[in-house]
Amino acid sequence: MEKETNKRQYLLADRKSHPQDSVIEIGGGDVESVKIGGGNFRIIAGPCSIESEEQIIETAKSVAASGAGLIRGGAYKPRTSPYTFQGLGKEGLDYLAKARSIVKKPVVSEILGTEHLSEYENVDMFQVGARNMQNYELLRALGRQKKPVLLKRGMSATLRELLLSAEYILSEGNPNVILCERGIRAFGHYTRNTLDLSAIPVLKEMTHLPVIVDPSHATGRAELVAPMALAAVAAGADGIMTEVHPDPAKALSDGMQALNLAEFAELAKQIEAIRPFAYRKK
Ligand code: PEP
Ligand code: MN
Repeated sequence: MEKETNKRQYLLADRKSHPQDSVIEIGGGDVESVKIGGGNFRIIAGPCSIESEEQIIETAKSVAASGAGLIRGGAYKPRTSPYTFQGLGKEGLDYLAKARSIVKKPVVSEILGTEHLSEYENVDMFQVGARNMQNYELLRALGRQKKPVLLKRGMSATLRELLLSAEYILSEGNPNVILCERGIRAFGHYTRNTLDLSAIPVLKEMTHLPVIVDPSHATGRAELVAPMALAAVAAGADGIMTEVHPDPAKALSDGMQALNLAEFAELAKQIEAIRPFAYRKK
């Protein structure tokens, strides 16, 4: 093992070792194969939590028809309080698999621990949440398999720490990592977190891995999701992940930040309209 130094150490994630953008392929087989990175832009949409079979199927059908390339839905939820809804667990993953087989789009769901790995057979991309960004055992385990991993930035993590977490996955042999900026802790209290928009161009310089943005957790407020999503697109993000619920007022988690189905459809149109003007380094 090399001596600890101040040099970058994110050897495989480093743009210097791999000048071209990485393109990550998600899905395939019985669902569509979708690319993110290297000019391939995708929207991921769906509820914070899978609450019922009807809820995930209705949401998946609607967001897929409005332009989402991938469907999200949480089954194992890392909630701040142990007394709030913790997700439906394996039952939720079964409902998500059903939605997947209907809309034929790849799905992404958060994994909290290695003990659940075998339950994610019908999940096309693992999500590692902000709270688990430095769960190195989980990262290593996800590095020992081939499915893509959506790695969210910890709420107080530096970009170097985010890339070193990605390195845990890459160094085990899985090159399929997508990074997600989802807001960091700052002193403002008007929003749930503070969206670090500059992380997009900075990460693009540091690494070849795709960078997407989650404006839902970044703001915590539905009315701020569209402006921040559009800002992220303009700044050069490779994708957007938003929380969408058929009836946000009744959501069992994160209802305040969820778009309804019509609001999502409108946002997807606006994203499409500004995409040609998004910043791209020549
Ligand atoms: C989520 O995407 O549902 C989630 C829990 O996000 P984060 O890990 O960014 O808080
Ligand atoms: Mn959420």
